[in-house]
Amino acid sequence: MGSNDRAIFLDQDDIPRNWYNIQADLPEPIPPPLDPGTLQPINPEKLLRVFAKELVLQEVSQERYVKIPDEVYDAYKWLPRPTPLYRARKLEEYLKTPARIYYKWEGVNPAGSHKPNTAFAQAYYNAKQGIENLTTETGAGQWGSALSMAAAYFGLHARVYMVSASYNQKPGRRVMMETWGAKCFSSPSDQTSYGKKLQEEDPNNPGSLGIAISEAVEDAVTHDNTRYTLGSVLNHVLMHQTVIGQEVEKQLDIVDKKPDVLVGNIGGGSNFGGFCLPFMGKKLKGKLDARFVACESAAVPHTTKGKYTYDYGDTGHLTPLLKMLTLGSEFRNPPIHAGGLRYHGMAPIISYLIQKGYMESYAYSQTAAFDAATIFARTEGIIPAPESAHEIRYVIDEAFRCKRDNKSEVIVFNNSGHGLLDLSAYELYNSGKLEDFEATEFNYPTIVREEAR
Ligand SMILES: *Cc1c(COP(=O)(O)O)cnc(C)c1O
Repeated sequence: MGSNDRAIFLDQDDIPRNWYNIQADLPEPIPPPLDPGTLQPINPEKLLRVFAKELVLQEVSQERYVKIPDEVYDAYKWLPRPTPLYRARKLEEYLKTPARIYYKWEGVNPAGSHKPNTAFAQAYYNAKQGIENLTTETGAGQWGSALSMAAAYFGLHARVYMVSASYNQKPGRRVMMETWGAKCFSSPSDQTSYGKKLQEEDPNNPGSLGIAISEAVEDAVTHDNTRYTLGSVLNHVLMHQTVIGQEVEKQLDIVDKKPDVLVGNIGGGSNFGGFCLPFMGKKLKGKLDARFVACESAAVPHTTKGKYTYDYGDTGHLTPLLKMLTLGSEFRNPPIHAGGLRYHGMAPIISYLIQKGYMESYAYSQTAAFDAATIFARTEGIIPAPESAHEIRYVIDEAFRCKRDNKSEVIVFNNSGHGLLDLSAYELYNSGKLEDFEATEFNYPTIVREEAR
């Protein structure tokens, strides 16, 4: 434990012993997942062929705290955790703001993002159950690389379906996955019947996360001793990520600060959920008065323009339906550089909290995000992931509002990963060639629960 002018460190024994499950503290249960066949609440038994058993139990658990198994605790130390919380003094000075800005830095592990926090938990429970093969999808490759590293750690084989557009344009993370021993396929692939069908219809199909999920699920259910893993959206994934927020609570205690605003980016909602849900639990109990701000891409405005309804998690409609803010499972990903922000839906927990007004959300274009990321890199040194750039845009705007109104707010954000494999996007931005995409046409989900009944 300790702090210097810049960073607040914890000891390894300060890693939280439990994950925090917000489901125990929500004002009402979130609506259950529906069976895609019957459109009735799904029987969890049916999910056992898709996910490791312990993960299915965690998905529906109402226990407030779930103990982190020793093997996962050791893996967190190995990554390493705890991660530092930084005070962004140089950024504050540059902005001449009275606000105090802190950020949690999740880019320190070898995969470079928050995603190993759940990848190691998921790989562990599968290994413990005797599963040998994991399948998953990945967009730009952050999740696929985190899972590949975790699979190597626990001695499992990983098969990763990577969105074709990224597979061709961003070989860096594919090479990382292969180096860690995973098999990586360009999706739509020739490995699944769904992928083959799409390839026949259009050999140049650029793929999407929704398509890659369908392939990874099909692969899991058609092979022995194989289970599927998902890097975001689901309740158990957000729960595993709460090591982030619980560490931040301890770190802010060391400097005797309470957050006024908690900010993060939302792709599927896992890094922001993990960062802010421990604080949200306190807010729901009246013990904390803070604002919660989620930032998304204007090209994929799932929470600012999406519908709150039941929708499929994938394009092939193999997954259960989740009640979430969504742009529709047929949504075609625009080619923004923040690969992690391209998913059509949003975690049911985050969707619920936004819908009920406990959380705000804002959408930014990628040039606005890269403007902010560049200021951040020049003041704090870290080149952030394009995803994280979106919340840095909000943080800088908020710091300016504090200056205008002479308010000394404590702004805390989750810097979810580094952008060192996204330098081609920075190169485009630096040369003035980065384009914006405005989402104009949505393929809103056709299945709304009320209609389905
Ligand atoms: C995947 C990813 C995201 C978005 O996913 P969430 O589940 O919303 O956290 C954000 N930042 C980074 C660095 C990522 O790798």
